[in-house]
Amino acid sequence: MSHRTSLLGFPRIGEHRELKFALEQYWKGALDFDALDNLAQMLRARHFQRQKASGIDEVAINDFSFYDNMLDMMVALGSTPERFGDIDDPVARYFAMARGDSTHAALEMTKWFNTNYHYLVPELHAQFRFAPVNPEKILREYAEAQAQGIHGRIALIGPITFLALSKCDEQVRGVLFDGLLNQYAALLEALSPLQAAFTFHESALVCDPSAEDLSLLKIAYERLGKCADIRVATYFEHASEATAVLLRTPITSLALDFVHGPANFDALEAIGKSTKTLVVGIINGRNVWKNDLEASLRNLEQIALHVPKERLIIGTSCSLLHVPYSLDHEHALPSEVRALLAFAHEKLEELALLSRAFFEGEALPPRLSAPVRSDDAVQARLAALTPNDYRRPYPFAIRREAAKELFDLPILPTTTIGSFPQTPEIRKARQEFKKGLITPEAYETAMKEAIAHCVSLQESLGLDVLVHGEFERNDMVEYFGEQLRGFAFSANGWVQSYGSRCVKPPLLYADVSRIKPMTHFWSSFAQSLTDKPMKGMLTGPVTILNWSFVREDQSREQSAKQIALAISDEIDDLQRAGIKMIQVDEAAFKEGYPLRRSEREKYERWALESFLLATAIAERDTQIHTHMCYSEFTDIIHTIEAMDADVISIETSRSGNRLLRIFEQVGYKQEIGPGVYDIHSPRVPSVEEIEHQIRALLEVLSPAQLWINPDCGLKTRGWSETEAALRHMVQAVRNVRAAL
Ligand code: GLN
Ligand code: ZN
Repeated sequence: MSHRTSLLGFPRIGEHRELKFALEQYWKGALDFDALDNLAQMLRARHFQRQKASGIDEVAINDFSFYDNMLDMMVALGSTPERFGDIDDPVARYFAMARGDSTHAALEMTKWFNTNYHYLVPELHAQFRFAPVNPEKILREYAEAQAQGIHGRIALIGPITFLALSKCDEQVRGVLFDGLLNQYAALLEALSPLQAAFTFHESALVCDPSAEDLSLLKIAYERLGKCADIRVATYFEHASEATAVLLRTPITSLALDFVHGPANFDALEAIGKSTKTLVVGIINGRNVWKNDLEASLRNLEQIALHVPKERLIIGTSCSLLHVPYSLDHEHALPSEVRALLAFAHEKLEELALLSRAFFEGEALPPRLSAPVRSDDAVQARLAALTPNDYRRPYPFAIRREAAKELFDLPILPTTTIGSFPQTPEIRKARQEFKKGLITPEAYETAMKEAIAHCVSLQESLGLDVLVHGEFERNDMVEYFGEQLRGFAFSANGWVQSYGSRCVKPPLLYADVSRIKPMTHFWSSFAQSLTDKPMKGMLTGPVTILNWSFVREDQSREQSAKQIALAISDEIDDLQRAGIKMIQVDEAAFKEGYPLRRSEREKYERWALESFLLATAIAERDTQIHTHMCYSEFTDIIHTIEAMDADVISIETSRSGNRLLRIFEQVGYKQEIGPGVYDIHSPRVPSVEEIEHQIRALLEVLSPAQLWINPDCGLKTRGWSETEAALRHMVQAVRNVRAAL
């Protein structure tokens, strides 16, 4: 039988996050490796069976990982960094690379394209010596599938993507490529007794590949395509340039994303003329909404005009790694929200339905009428916006004078990014309140105590601008989503973020508006305890959007602007209540940038507009701060300037002031707080060290525009190191001020 449905990968953490809990037990020493390994095997079997039962013809084999597929690829290719070579035990070495140990820093971790999944970054260099390839894991998982009567393709990350995502100098890529390609060929050779088929994941090819990338692509698949039955998969965008090249190599098939890369339709004619099979990624693998099966069927019929049905397979746009397991456990979701959703299990069913309709002419099930998602008041408010709604009423120069008078801050003012350590007691109080185990009064008392403690600590440390500490927040996006109309929360909608870490993104399903003030109560209480300025803390519209599962029946721009209006209402309440410094965090602003350069301008425009729409309500003497969790601003500096925040705090403590030069170069006028120490580690920096850092910053930025703060929020730190580090920070500033 020919194959009609295919998957690029299935979530691996377990329907109830079994793998997460087992891994964490294992790391604590409470579970031995055999027990962990048995659990992993059981999960793989369960996931294979689930896909088979849903009628998926081709599953992905080797999509499992104890931590990350890039790390597994490093092991398979004999390319683990030499610095881990002193660890003999392969399991210990594996987890040392993933998480570090007492003598080894972990591999760097970063986001997988524009998703919230993080992979571990290979470390390569010109003299890198590859070790023999290591096919064990793949052989084992293939054998498991076979024993269960499962048919599938072995999933591997392809050489172009592996190299593109590695840390190495641009100049040595060519040299490394030859060695790397030999490793791939050796790996295929080692796996050749299986006579298996493969899927090479090559999504780096959707990121505006250069001519050199394309020539390496040609070389790679000319060679590998002769060794086995190879499919090349790309996703998250169109892959027009790569498709044109791949059609002239001996690979057997292509998997393309028709959800996020409509330009892939333009390649159909060429694919039709070739002999390649095409996997049409038509069900969104990274969002949670039901597929419009009728529209998909029409699209498939359209595609079949160019590529004969015998050469078509239906698939998801990407691996289902990026969506939760199933709706089975969502008893608490409102039925109108549930009716909109399809998690991984439900997507398998959609694939099966679509396949029967397309290949066998079976009728699609009738479509249930969709619930009403739009809110007339919200729509009317959006429609009535004018250019003034996107502009602060006074220019920065005037606002700065007002702030000087109002706040009367010393030079190099000190502050923090918002959150303070979240102790187990704080978390417990929040959880018990949510479950109704403690009364609202008891919860309020617990939070007020935490705030009071935090405020008095900041006063005694001598910080200039205080925060309330964010103790009432579990997560900076969830906290706001839970209070806004238009958002819903799943009970079990976990998605792997990295290693054993999972996140449960809010579901933005309808028009957004604010029901009542969200932060005012806590901020006002905190302000009542001190004469120093209290910074109000909000999450920005773009970050709320980028960290949610967002509805697709209207543009992201529309949704972002609705959130912006809700945040604007909150800013207005705060300023009326006398909170005159308000921070609007945009931690995820940059991560929403499209993978294709041609799409960026559009995103920049509406992301910027959304931030402006949220903050333009701020009056002359309300100072708007923002915070971003990265330091690479070179390519977005003009957007940052246009955001017109009075103060921006950023993460620079690890990259030094080299990256700050851009602010100097463009003559950035507003104020900046480049983090003076790294909060991602429990290490307490010395006074001298921070002083040194401040002096280095003063070489690039004027003292009149410089703020002094840590790198990011302190919620994951302990109290003792936090107190010590902030004490050093304040002392360091005093030393520098005295010398100025
Ligand atoms: N205000 C938030 C905090 O301090 C900012 C967090 C972030 O940047 N990710 O926790
Ligand atoms: Zn941050």
